[in-house]
Parts: sequence; C-alpha cells; structure tokens
Amino acid sequence: AEEWLVRSEKLSVVGQLAAGVAHEIRNPLTALKGFLQLAKVQPEKVRDYADIMYSELERIESITNEMLAFSKPHVTQFKPYNIQVLVDGVISLLSSQSLMHNVRFHVDFNHGDALILCEPDRLRQVLINLFKNAMDAMRGGGEVSIRTWLVKEQLHIAVVDHGKGMDPETLRRIGEPFYTTKSNGTGLGVMVCQRIVESHNGFMAWESEMGKGTTVTITLPICEFAGEM
Ligand code: ADP
Repeated sequence: AEEWLVRSEKLSVVGQLAAGVAHEIRNPLTALKGFLQLAKVQPEKVRDYADIMYSELERIESITNEMLAFSKPHVTQFKPYNIQVLVDGVISLLSSQSLMHNVRFHVDFNHGDALILCEPDRLRQVLINLFKNAMDAMRGGGEVSIRTWLVKEQLHIAVVDHGKGMDPETLRRIGEPFYTTKSNGTGLGVMVCQRIVESHNGFMAWESEMGKGTTVTITLPICEFAGEM
C-alpha cells in the first residue's frame, strides 16, 4: 500500500505540471482564436491585431522552449570548464538586449583557474535566465555585476542588480512553476535554473529588497581534478 501511495504522489506532480502548461498555453490560444475570428469580419483591422497575435505566439513559443529545455532527455556530458568563459560568452550573447535596456555588465572574477565540472550549455541557460531577469528588473538601466569567489571547494557566482527588488511574497514564491509578476513572463525561468544548478550538485540563494535590488548567488562544487588537467 505504501508503494502505491508514493507512485500516486509522483503522478500528481507530473499531472499538476501538465495542467499548468496546458492552462498557460490555453490563454494565448484563446486570444489568438478570438483575434482570428475578428480578423475575418474586420479585414481592415488585421494589421492592428497582427502585433497582439504575434506577441501571444511568442508567449507560447517561450513556454514550449522552456518546457523542452527542462524536460528533454539528453546525454549528459560534463566537462571541466572555466565559468569566466561562460559568463563572458553570455554577456556578448545578450549585448544587443543590454544595449536596449541601457544595462552594463560589470565582471569581477576571483576564482583563479578553478574549474567546474559542468554541462556548459545548461549552465549557459542558467546565466541567460538570471541576466535577463536582472535586466528586466532595472527599468531605467544601470549596472549588473557578476562576481565570483571561492570558499574552500565551492565556487560562488553572484549576480547583483540594482533593480526594483522583490516583495516578500515574490521572494517566497520565486521558482514555483508559472509564478510570474510580468505581463509577458512564463514563470519558468527560475525553476529551470534551479533544476540545472541542482543537477550540478549546487544550490541557489536569493537576497532582495524592494527598491534596492536583488542578489542571486549560485554555489557550485569545483572540479577536484582541476590541478591535473
Ligand atoms: P519570468 O521571468 O518569466 O517571470 P522567472 O521564473 O524567471 O519567470 O521569475 C519569476 C519572478 O521572479 C519574476 O516574474 C519576477 O517577479 C521575480 N524575479 C526574478 N528575478 C528577479 C530580479 N532579478 N529582480 C526582481 N524580481 C525578480
């Protein structure tokens, strides 16, 4: 009987997530359907509707992309990697967006040649999500700092923004699937980050103050064999 209970709990978690995805996708689908119907009777308005329909489609696209990144079965390939290479790469990847947001990235690497055993593509995804959140939080632009340091065998990576910060409710609920305060958000970014960091035997911590900003710290074990490579 006990085993059955465990199994049914697991199913309900999957079921909850599936229901959440279906719900999140149904909203933009309903909107799309409505606008298509309107467009049939008001062909002269099609141009006005196109922008809204496009953004609804983009929303469906980001939800499915994040669900895929989160659930796709893949061959895990852990490699020793210098986090500096990843951070610098993500900063240049986001350079056009940061220019638009008037955000400058400032880096301060203090981890020497310590390497981490990681799946670079997955960790890149974590950094992309966190840097994007930092930019979103800084409406008026400004500086986002990325700082790294070592404590014993642990590498810490802090992403510091001076944006709007989080209220206690958001701070408590961050990482919950579909919890978002953004009109165009998916509420999946942080959950994906947490899953990836955990799969690297690491963890994430949040510190935030309304009107002051947010600091996210990722802690990851460094590669034990680094000295021999
Ligand atoms: P999304 O960005 O799609 O909303 P996330 O899971 O990435 O989904 O974030 C969930 C929520 O957490 C955001 O809607 C926002 O309210 C809050 N949040 C995340 N990062 C930050 C940040 N750096 N500053 C302020 N709020 C943040």
